[in-house]
Amino acid sequence: MQHEERATETKPVERIVRRWTTCDFCQAEIREDAYEVREGVLSLRLGDAYPDSGHTTEQRVDICESCWEAKLLPWLASLGIVPQTHRVDW
Ligand SMILES: [Zn+2]
Repeated sequence: MQHEERATETKPVERIVRRWTTCDFCQAEIREDAYEVREGVLSLRLGDAYPDSGHTTEQRVDICESCWEAKLLPWLASLGIVPQTHRVDW
């Protein structure tokens, strides 16, 4: 006769409890509150996009608001570039 004895194992479960972004210029944490958006991203996406599939790669630089104002905008201005501003409401 075969018998079974069952036991319950408790395995530790690793989960992400906090996620944050740091500025690639000054390494400061880019802080956001629950309803506040403060995100600076400069990115280049390359790839192929078809109706049912595709792939892309993205190069991304995260920038805090201070570095955006003090470092990125002056550099862009020196090249004659003025970023476009778009308002998004939902
Ligand atoms: Zn910064």
